[in-house]
Amino acid sequence: MAEDLNPFRIAQEELDSAAEAMGLDKTAHAILREPKRTVVVNIPVKMRDGSVKVFNGFRVLYNDARGPGKGGIRYHPLENLDTVKALSAWMTWKTSLANIPFGGAKGGVICNPKEMNSYELENLSRGYVRALWNSIGPKIDVPAPDVYTNPQIMAWMMDEYNAIAGHGEPAFITGKPVEIGGSEGRFDSTAMGGMYVLRESAKKIKLDLKGSDVVIQGFGNAGMFAFEIANKLAGAKVVGISDSEGGIYDQDGIDYNKLLAAKKSTGKVQGYDKGEKVSNEELLELDADVIIPAAIENQITAANADKIKAKIVLELANGPVTPEADRILFERGVLDVPDFLVNSGGVIVSYFEWAQDREGYFWTEEEVYKRLDAIVTRSFNDVMATQEKYTESGKKITPRTAAYIVAVGRVAAAMKLRGWY
Ligand code: GLU
Repeated sequence: MAEDLNPFRIAQEELDSAAEAMGLDKTAHAILREPKRTVVVNIPVKMRDGSVKVFNGFRVLYNDARGPGKGGIRYHPLENLDTVKALSAWMTWKTSLANIPFGGAKGGVICNPKEMNSYELENLSRGYVRALWNSIGPKIDVPAPDVYTNPQIMAWMMDEYNAIAGHGEPAFITGKPVEIGGSEGRFDSTAMGGMYVLRESAKKIKLDLKGSDVVIQGFGNAGMFAFEIANKLAGAKVVGISDSEGGIYDQDGIDYNKLLAAKKSTGKVQGYDKGEKVSNEELLELDADVIIPAAIENQITAANADKIKAKIVLELANGPVTPEADRILFERGVLDVPDFLVNSGGVIVSYFEWAQDREGYFWTEEEVYKRLDAIVTRSFNDVMATQEKYTESGKKITPRTAAYIVAVGRVAAAMKLRGWY
């Protein structure tokens, strides 16, 4: 049978495996298999030519037993409800594994931001808030940036929400520019958290990161900063990088500044004039110590998992590895570090931003990174300790299932205490 690549089916399958391994209560399992609330909206948007276009948007609150919903908003032409549902489930596990006081949520709009100008994007962003203001808010569900949304979009959304609320409410949304209540260190926090996890993962398998070869799929916010940090902090050599149009490979290492300049002037990574051109599929199969999928879902599947040569797969994107691929990598001895651990840095610093906004007292970048490091390192250790505990009792589980066991266990405990089951 062909592998089911529907992200929500995948999210449910991952939960089912963990539920079985940990002996999760049946009612808790049933609650956690579906989102608590799904809102679908129609957003009329004034376009530059004077016409009005209607966009479809979503906000899914998956679970709020541990605190208000939390999760980004994606602007993507292929957005759909099942993907948003899956991503909201993953946010629930992400905030729980990090042990920060939030539940999980996610939003999305079906649109092509590459074809929209700033006037249209602002109208769409304000329209999204007008359509949903009732079900989002600092104590209900706190949005943030995600694929193709950014600090400017967060600023417009905050402004719209504040106008509706009738007072300043910066904690309504995170990932804002620092000038209007954003946190130091938020912009590169996803990559930074990922690099702390990479440091711990390398330690675990005794890989010296200095001089090791790294390949990164994706040159968005996460991939771009991961490149810079891998170079600067870890002393690793990035030999492969891609964007949605394809990638490049250079065994001698890719020059970050030259790549940035090439991407800026030509609009694509392949504008870099050294190395050889590779497709996104070939990129993942390159001979490197570490590969970092930092783009979109379902990049490593049953079809290519046995061709991966890396020792560590660091999942910086959401959902880049399917459950079947996860099992194949595990059996082959590849350390596949799960997404909701690796990319939790974004939401952890979002939590710092929310806390700083509510207090009206802001921290230094150094303070932010120090606290981020402490949280992700603790999460990594929680996952490894759980995996070992199960292995010792004769149950072989992947790091992903171990991460699920920690995260699901905490959400189930919160639901139990609240009397939900
Ligand atoms: N969009 C990011 C994620 O998937 C951050 C979410 C947030 O900060 O709430 O984790």
